[in-house]
Amino acid sequence: MQITEIYKSLQGESTYAGLACVFVRLTGCNLRCSWCDSEYTFTGGRKMSTDEIREEVSRLSPGGGLVEITGGEPMLQERELVPFIQNLVETGYTVLLETSGERPLERVPAQVIKIVDVKCPDSGEPGTFHLPNLSVLAPHDEVKFVLSSRADYDFAVDFVRSHQLSSRVHAILFSPAFRKDATGARDSSHCLLDPQQLAEWMIADNIPARLGLQLHKFIWDPAVKGV
Ligand code: SF4
Repeated sequence: MQITEIYKSLQGESTYAGLACVFVRLTGCNLRCSWCDSEYTFTGGRKMSTDEIREEVSRLSPGGGLVEITGGEPMLQERELVPFIQNLVETGYTVLLETSGERPLERVPAQVIKIVDVKCPDSGEPGTFHLPNLSVLAPHDEVKFVLSSRADYDFAVDFVRSHQLSSRVHAILFSPAFRKDATGARDSSHCLLDPQQLAEWMIADNIPARLGLQLHKFIWDPAVKGV
């Protein structure tokens, strides 16, 4: 597979936030979200065999633990990725798969926890969600909306309600988009949508979602990669 980086840090998002986690970041993405903080994954990286990746995961987290497969868009390398993550779950790892939701997900092994984006209008990639993916969501999966405006919020609320998402998955995540050139202060001033404003909307609407902040951007300088 073409790999941008493998490293160990704290999980920054989802209901697994705060836990130690090995990140396997695959190269390449077919979308171009306006606020993308992973543009360095679009090209480059290095070819690694699944054995080499597995050795690095084992070195960083021997005998099990949390592994996130991310990108870029990891499902673009589905043919090699699927047997690799199947092996990880069979050997005791808890595997999270972070995906844009644009690629079909029916071949993802059942034990893998899918964290699936639905792109909102201001991402610049609306309408890319592969709707048949709704039927392959499992009760342990999570669906994430990255929001940068009231229009994004209204879209997300409508999607959650019209597809009865709360009955399909373990968690629905509403996360303010972060300015992609953010650097310096480790605070919410870099959010494109004020978390306080988002919180107030969510409370008023009693929406069955949880507000998610990207924890790593409040721990390390937001410009730092590989954390
Ligand atoms: S899907 Fe993810 S990696 Fe691809 S452009 Fe959007 S935010 Fe960036």
